[in-house]
Amino acid sequence: MKLSRYNFLRQYDDATIFFNATTCALAVVDENFLRVVDDVKNNSYVEKNYDAQLIADMKSSGCLIEDDVDELERLEFYRNLAKYDMTNFGLTIAPTLDCNFRCKYCYETHPKGKMSSETQEALIKFVESRLERAKKFSLTWYGGEPLLAKEIVYALSEKFLELCEKYSIDYDAFIITNASLLEDSDAELFKKYKINGAQITIDGVKELHDNRRRAITGESTFDRLIDRVNLLLNNGLSVVVRINIDKENIAHVDELLDVLVERIDKHEKLKIDFGQVSPFNDVCKSIEGDCYNNAQFADVMLPLYEKVLARGFTVNKMAAYPIPRVNFCCVDYANEFVIDNRGELYRCWNHVGNLKYSSGNVNDDDKLTLEKNYLSWIQWNPIRHPKCRECSCLPICMGGCPEAMRTSNDGQPVCGTVKYNFEKVIECFYERLKGAISD
Ligand code: SF4
Ligand code: SF4
Ligand code: SF4
Repeated sequence: MKLSRYNFLRQYDDATIFFNATTCALAVVDENFLRVVDDVKNNSYVEKNYDAQLIADMKSSGCLIEDDVDELERLEFYRNLAKYDMTNFGLTIAPTLDCNFRCKYCYETHPKGKMSSETQEALIKFVESRLERAKKFSLTWYGGEPLLAKEIVYALSEKFLELCEKYSIDYDAFIITNASLLEDSDAELFKKYKINGAQITIDGVKELHDNRRRAITGESTFDRLIDRVNLLLNNGLSVVVRINIDKENIAHVDELLDVLVERIDKHEKLKIDFGQVSPFNDVCKSIEGDCYNNAQFADVMLPLYEKVLARGFTVNKMAAYPIPRVNFCCVDYANEFVIDNRGELYRCWNHVGNLKYSSGNVNDDDKLTLEKNYLSWIQWNPIRHPKCRECSCLPICMGGCPEAMRTSNDGQPVCGTVKYNFEKVIECFYERLKGAISD
């Protein structure tokens, strides 16, 4: 028996806390647990000398592993299993790249034009070819602003639902929208077409939000967005309010959360998520000075989530507590694609609309071209990279954002925020659990 390379033991004020990054198990441990750990380290582990339940718990938490287990190989196996799993099919579709907002930090260029009926037909065929082998189809509507092309969103949804019924596939859709074009009747259509949730960005109270997320018309959108959040929540749909954070708006988060508590009817059902504004390309380079890097963002985000929890909102689970991960994002999955209005296929959300990064087009016979824009992304493997291989956070980070690595000065993996704050997150969780137990 040996100890996992991903064990963390920390002495806090009044307790010893154990965390394992492969399972994300967290426990307050006692001297019996520590004795087993010491015995394994000193090669004096004799299993029958310990309480059987303790040893079973230490194994299931990932703390104790068999001598012949190579945790890096095991991680790679599960990573490959997920990466090449063709039973899960995922699409992000931008039916238009046009938008009726011009947000300060937007990295897109917003050319006019919607998905043509020919491209919609080709897309439906592409989807059908993938569904023949799939069990689950997850779809995200994206843009530009997808509701500028809502007739396409609903027409394609209708076809996708028919196909999912034909092949007995689980279907689930989500939309990322600025919500300004959301009409009352859309709530019913969302339910009909299984668009079960929406992410709506609100960056601050009225003046601040309207300044950062400017409507082309110059009109204020803040009050309408609050109203639209209520519309969706009151119709039983899931809503994430995303607050994109940089140095300009961080000091005003309390104010916004207070307004949301006051004006959202079911605020305890509302999920709050914080985004990190990043200058990914030349389009948004001008805001670079206002942005936090990952280490700085890791520092500021935890107090932000505490403010959210203190007011009774729900938080995105992954943001609040690390989760074991085998892949970082959609670029790591062979059967996930981002598609723009011309039918171009991309790996990364940040590339949508940029032909330089296209890896094929649904209108072409061979659709997917297995050249560098596809293979180099799919074949990126942090488990083989010396920096990540030695990293104790690998199972909860998995190499960080591949696009951040591609655009970094040194081409090295860019450590995710979890690298910088997971110990603090664990400490906060422990404090919260302790509080809940003593209440
Ligand atoms: S609403 Fe979205 S797509 Fe439109 S400008 Fe803002 S960030 Fe860009
Ligand atoms: S590579 Fe980075 S920017 Fe691109 S989709 Fe993944 S997380 Fe997003
Ligand atoms: S990117 Fe950084 S934190 Fe993430 S696994 Fe690699 S070395 Fe670790």
